[in-house]
Amino acid sequence: MSARPSDFVIEAPAIPSIPVKGTEQRFPVRRIYCVGRNYADHAIEMGHDPNREPPFFFQKNPDALITSGEFPYPTKSSDVHHEIELVVALAKGGSNIPAERALDHVYGYAVGLDMTRRDLQGEAKKMGRPWEIGKSFEASAPTSALVPASEIGHPLKGAIWLDVNGARRQSGDLAQMIWNVPDTIAYLSEFFTLAPGDVIMTGTPAGVGPVQRGDVLSGGVEGIGTIEVRVV
Ligand code: MN
Repeated sequence: MSARPSDFVIEAPAIPSIPVKGTEQRFPVRRIYCVGRNYADHAIEMGHDPNREPPFFFQKNPDALITSGEFPYPTKSSDVHHEIELVVALAKGGSNIPAERALDHVYGYAVGLDMTRRDLQGEAKKMGRPWEIGKSFEASAPTSALVPASEIGHPLKGAIWLDVNGARRQSGDLAQMIWNVPDTIAYLSEFFTLAPGDVIMTGTPAGVGPVQRGDVLSGGVEGIGTIEVRVV
C-alpha cells in the first residue's frame, strides 16, 4: 500500500538518489550494503586473514550518499579514513539470485568512498559492538554519478585508485576482489531480498588512511569514472 503525500503526519523526507552521468535523471536509492575486507591486501593491512572466508556486510543509510564534492569532517572522531570503492546499483532485485544471472540485475556503476571513523570502528570491534557509529554517519558515502551498464558493460577488472592532495594512497584492481560483483550479489541475496534501488559498495584495496580538513581526495575506477571530494 502506498501513501499519498497528504497522508503523512509530517512532510515526507526526500528519496535519496544518485545522478546518472550525462542525463538529468537520477537513480533512487533504497538500501546501501557494504562489503567488508574484500581485497586481500586490505584484509592484511587491517590484521586479518586474507583467505577466502564468506563475505560479510554492513549497511549505510541511503541519505549518507552525497554528490556535492564536499565531505564534512564528522564529529567525535580524530581518525577518519578514506576507502575508495566500486559502487554497484541494482535495477532488479530478488532472493537467491544465481551468480551466473547476477549481472542482469545491475543498472550501473559509480565510484564511491566508504568514509570511516576508524577510531570509533576500532573501539566497536574491540568491544564486540556494531559498526554503525564508525561507518554509518551522515555524508559517509560520497559518490560519483552512475554510469549505466548498458553503456559500459560490467567491469570485472580494471584499476581502482585514490590520491590525496595529488599523492597516490590506494591502488588496486577490481580483479583482486575476493568476492567479485556477481558472487557478492548472489551471496547477499541469500540473506536479504534485494530490490531495485539497492546499492552495493564492494570493498576497498589496501592503502586506507586518515584525512584532514582541506584535503582533496581524487580517485577513480578504470572504465567507470572519477570522483573528487574536498574534506571540509
Ligand atoms: Mn569499505
